[in-house]
Parts: sequence; C-alpha cells; structure tokens
Amino acid sequence: MDCIFCKIIKHEVPTNSIYEDDWLVVFKDIKPSAPIHYLIVSKEHIQSIIHLQNNHQEIISKMVFTAKMLAEKLGLKGYKLVFNVGRQGGQIIDHLHLHLLGGWENGSGKINI
Ligand code: AMP
Ligand code: ZN
Repeated sequence: MDCIFCKIIKHEVPTNSIYEDDWLVVFKDIKPSAPIHYLIVSKEHIQSIIHLQNNHQEIISKMVFTAKMLAEKLGLKGYKLVFNVGRQGGQIIDHLHLHLLGGWENGSGKINI
C-alpha cells in the first residue's frame, strides 16, 4: 500500500518519533502549523474518522490520552487536538492521525489547517 504513514510506521521512511507503543506512533509534523505540532498516528491503517468501526473505540481513546500525556510532558497548559476528516475536512493523508498543536506564546492559538 502506498501510504506514507504506513511506511513511517514500518521504518521504511525515517522519522524522529518521540513516542511509540503497540497502537500508536508520534512524530513531528513535517510542515508545522504551530510552534509545537505532533502527529499521533494509529499503527493500523484506518483511512479516516469516517471509516471507524465499533472495534476502533479503544484506539481513539488511546490517541486522545496519549495526546494528553505528551502535552503534560511538553508543559503545554493549553493546546489544540484536531482530526481533519475527509478531503472536505482538510484531510490530505488518508491514514488516521490526530494533530497536537500548541506552544503559542500569547496563547491565542489561532491556526488554519
Ligand atoms: P491532514 O491534512 O490532517 O491529512 O494532515 C497531514 C499532515 O501530515 C500535514 O500537516 C503534513 O504536513 C504532514 N505530513 C505529511 N507527510 C509527512 C511526513 N513524511 N512526516 C511528517 N509529517 C508529514
Ligand atoms: Zn497507512
């Protein structure tokens, strides 16, 4: 399958991941939209939120709790968690991922992704 995130997960494409477990891998967004911008990516190739099945409830929960854990470790007092869903929702990479964005000094956190 020609999916860049699957290739990253299989270590076929190098990346500096900051976290990995049986379910998820987390790495820096290559084109950050915020001072801190990580992608929390499911190891299973799921196309998008639209394609979630009932058995994916645990993975979504793990994504959100991992974002919370990383935000705490990064010292973020506030942040944004974003799922872009489908082309009309701004999704470019068809592999489930959660954006963790933060680090704005003024706290306004205005982004457009
Ligand atoms: P989305 O619009 O939600 O599909 O976002 C995909 C994100 O993946 C974008 O913010 C891209 O900058 C990012 N991205 C694409 N390719 C890579 C890559 N090889 N490594 C890290 N981030 C990437
Ligand atoms: Zn994939």
